[in-house]
Amino acid sequence: MTAPARLRLDGAALVENWRALARMSGTAACGAAVKADGYGLGAREVVQRLAAAGCRNFFVATWAEAASLADLGVPLAVLHGVRAADLPLTGHHARPVLNSTAQVQRWREAGQGACDVMVDTGMNRLGISLEDVAAGLLDGLTIDTLMSHLACADEDAAMNAGQRAALQSLAGRTSARRLSLANSAGIALGPDYSFDLTRPGLALYGGVPRAKLAAMIRPVVTIEAEVLQRRHVPAGARVGYNATWIATRDSQVAVVNLGYADGYRRAFSDRGTAFAGDRALPVIGRVSMDLTAIDITGVEVGEGDWLAFDPDLARASAASGVSQYELLTGLGHRFDQVWM
Ligand SMILES: *Cc1c(COP(=O)(O)O)cnc(C)c1O
Repeated sequence: MTAPARLRLDGAALVENWRALARMSGTAACGAAVKADGYGLGAREVVQRLAAAGCRNFFVATWAEAASLADLGVPLAVLHGVRAADLPLTGHHARPVLNSTAQVQRWREAGQGACDVMVDTGMNRLGISLEDVAAGLLDGLTIDTLMSHLACADEDAAMNAGQRAALQSLAGRTSARRLSLANSAGIALGPDYSFDLTRPGLALYGGVPRAKLAAMIRPVVTIEAEVLQRRHVPAGARVGYNATWIATRDSQVAVVNLGYADGYRRAFSDRGTAFAGDRALPVIGRVSMDLTAIDITGVEVGEGDWLAFDPDLARASAASGVSQYELLTGLGHRFDQVWM
């Protein structure tokens, strides 16, 4: 049985995006953030393709995410560290990224071996303080990667350089084999930000968090939906919930199998763009839970045909006011996923 909506996923673009980010990372290794099920694309499919291309560092948020990838045999780091409920860990398929003094203590007591550590350099989200590092909190721990996270990498903010300098100041001060700071946008800040390992997520999947990346990042995900009905809407008639769209001329309208329950956000009402081949067609009226209307006046599109939705994440984000991250991670579960 096939679904009336699908995600067309471009595996070659995914790998090329990773290679482009790896080149920009210079001598640093380039990893991949695959948390939230690979930002909605399917973490297993993403990991298999990137591992085949040479990626050796994968980041997930939780141990459940790590467990679902364990059989792939790739090195995983769990960004949220270890809760008491996560111990004891059976099998050793991932390293925790320890985020707090309590987590460091827990890991020491568990005697579980190598870990990564997150230090806070100003974001005040997760991570141990520079003072705690200086006071010896990490002494004796076997640390693979000491990392921090940029708060404003997608902006030209003075804070970026401050965070970079704070991480740099820890070089050689712990047992860490590697330092890591940059996410996708951080890679675009320049070679000083790459340290030994970069951690892109968004840009792998076609997101463009800084204009500098636009030339080298290709879309990976295209939503496609089948036309359920083609309707004639006479001039003056209205379309959709709250009857917000009014035909200014005799119009043809396609109603497609896609709605906000699929992650095609209500914010695309009157603002989204669909495509029949190269022909751009406007979303009209309110996006419903399961249906969206498209103005196809003058275009040969009928029941059973498929329309594509704008795969340019930066443009779709600008049109909807929804972040590129949310557009990806909000993709619903009714799609067939078609990798090519
Ligand atoms: C999600 C995440 C990343 C990836 O960030 P992008 O902006 O998607 O490239 C990197 N590091 C950490 C700690 C993260 O939580």
